[in-house]
Amino acid sequence: MNTESILADLHSHTTASDGMLSPSDLVARALEKGVQMLSITDHDTVDGLAQAHLFNRQQPEPLTLIDGTEISTRWNNFDIHIVGLNIDKTQPELLAFLASQRELREVRAQEIGVRLAKAGIDGAYEGAKAIAGDAALSRGHYARWLADNGYASDMPSVFKRYLARGKTGYVPNNWGDMANAINVIHQAGGLAVLAHPSGYKLSAKWLKKLVKDFAEAGGDAMEVVLGQQTIDDRNNLLALCHQHQLLGSLGSDFHFISNWIELGKNLYQP
Ligand code: AMP
Ligand code: MN
Ligand code: MN
Ligand code: MN
Repeated sequence: MNTESILADLHSHTTASDGMLSPSDLVARALEKGVQMLSITDHDTVDGLAQAHLFNRQQPEPLTLIDGTEISTRWNNFDIHIVGLNIDKTQPELLAFLASQRELREVRAQEIGVRLAKAGIDGAYEGAKAIAGDAALSRGHYARWLADNGYASDMPSVFKRYLARGKTGYVPNNWGDMANAINVIHQAGGLAVLAHPSGYKLSAKWLKKLVKDFAEAGGDAMEVVLGQQTIDDRNNLLALCHQHQLLGSLGSDFHFISNWIELGKNLYQP
């Protein structure tokens, strides 16, 4: 995807998953911020895309809206996210796959609720469910409920205490493997992008192995430019990207309005 010289943001979330803006509001904000090409990549769903397109088409100067999704997978017991860009959001195999992801999410969410209850935190499942509405449950919804109810002061600390790998509310990952997600994305005509490679807290050695395995499994691209990263991180990702002849992608991973993460912000292309 040639995004040269335009402001592109190819990773964002709405209320269709664990984001806080509706698809229409997200498109409106992207337009406000001068984003010319936007991809909505909600976790394991394409449910927000129709509303986003409808709203975008009604604007005097619509942006280029790329259909996307962010698929949760398992790789060596880590939760690894694969973004699918430019997918056919009506493709039956893709929709069947996303439905099965939703079931896995529901099973996991119930288990998270049970684990938190055992730790003396009652009502978390119901609370998270009420926040999620129609969206499939994410740890993001649990995090908001826990923060709202005084179990931690902000999202990072709520994860650190309750929801990160190994913590009270963490349920061992049972997602499907990375190669299958890449395959599903390809069948739906999309490009498979390794999301936020430096966000998994992997050692340098494991990060290299991840990018290598991803490329060998047929992955097309990796995110190199993120909204919040050091120059060293960007250069390291760029080198890995070149080394494995992957395309580069970029995105803010916007979920909600904050002082730190913004649509299109800092997404300068190397
Ligand atoms: P899930 O897909 O249900 O496993 O939830 C993962 C989501 O939780 C991510 O997409 C983020 O929105 C959020 N998340 C994960 N780790 C953190 C963290 N350390 N701080 C804040 N949010 C996080
Ligand atoms: Mn999220
Ligand atoms: Mn992610
Ligand atoms: Mn994301």
